[in-house]
Amino acid sequence: MSDKVIKKEELPNVLKTLKETHEVFVPVKEKDFYRFKVLEDENKVDLNFTNTRLSPKSLLFPQSERMFEYTLDEADEDAYVMKEPPKDYAPTVVVGMRPCDAKALRLVDVNFVNPEFKDPWWARRLESLTLIGLGCKEPCSTCFCTSVNCGPFNEEGLDVLLFDLGKNYMARAITEKGAQLLKLAGVSEDATSDLNKQAEESKAKAEKQISSHVPTDKLKEKKAIDLFDASFWDEVAFACLNCGTCTYLCPTCWCFDIQDEVNKKKGDRIRNWDSCMFPLFTLHASGHNPRSEKVQRVRQRFMHKLKYYLDKYDNGVACVGCGRCVKYCPVNIDIREVFKLMNEL
Ligand code: SF4
Ligand code: SF4
Repeated sequence: MSDKVIKKEELPNVLKTLKETHEVFVPVKEKDFYRFKVLEDENKVDLNFTNTRLSPKSLLFPQSERMFEYTLDEADEDAYVMKEPPKDYAPTVVVGMRPCDAKALRLVDVNFVNPEFKDPWWARRLESLTLIGLGCKEPCSTCFCTSVNCGPFNEEGLDVLLFDLGKNYMARAITEKGAQLLKLAGVSEDATSDLNKQAEESKAKAEKQISSHVPTDKLKEKKAIDLFDASFWDEVAFACLNCGTCTYLCPTCWCFDIQDEVNKKKGDRIRNWDSCMFPLFTLHASGHNPRSEKVQRVRQRFMHKLKYYLDKYDNGVACVGCGRCVKYCPVNIDIREVFKLMNEL
């Protein structure tokens, strides 16, 4: 598959064509932040953003989702039967996803789809998505993707990767699905070898620009019990407010809670995002709570990402180095420091 070129002034036409057959999501500026929203006006698309504040995981795993509906009305022949409400799995394209967020979907995927079980909603949404990524020309000071098997132009999880080269985008199809999408959108002009060279230079420059690095080389060999018992957790957790911001913004956090909401005789079974940082998350019906202390919850967050996931799936750590939790934690708890503490223990 040869690389293609999209002139920037042609992008609105490309998006307009895609809109005819797909639902298209793009980053949209809202006050000071960007978030992925359905494309309304292709002439106003702005891809000059660093990253969205919220990761785009909610496109596959909504913050609140009706799983089933049921009736308790015994006059209804379907009383007490759980039924799946209609859901939308229309073909969808996400344009401008950052490589770290695309890789994060792959890390989460092994939890939702594996030999033991398959989450049907996640799996169907993932199938319906085509991801057009945008390489990071100017990584943020909080990004450390290159330390965790990712990078500003990492291709994993993407169908197409765009390189911003001034007046043009170079579009690289990573998968057959991506190649078909480019064809559908009328993107057929081959990139010149000069553009190709510029793309490689841009990639090398961005990788060099990443100034944050975290050590990970010894995490695998550490014993989980030693890390669990380490003396540094009190200090790490000291300032934490258990606000949950880090987990809600993180592209690799997937915890949820399932609740039934009943109104008269109609019921909905809903799953909502939850967070290991909240005390109610592990509260048992008996009243016992295995993580009643803040330090236990903070430890759980880091142990899960940097050790339990690594050991269970042999798929690297459950962190793509996007830096969101570093940027938005209100008390500056920095996962890069925790990487060091755990790796060097
Ligand atoms: S964002 Fe910071 S303060 Fe809030 S739960 Fe996470 S680590 Fe704690
Ligand atoms: S840097 Fe923080 S927010 Fe980003 S993937 Fe890692 S843990 Fe999640």
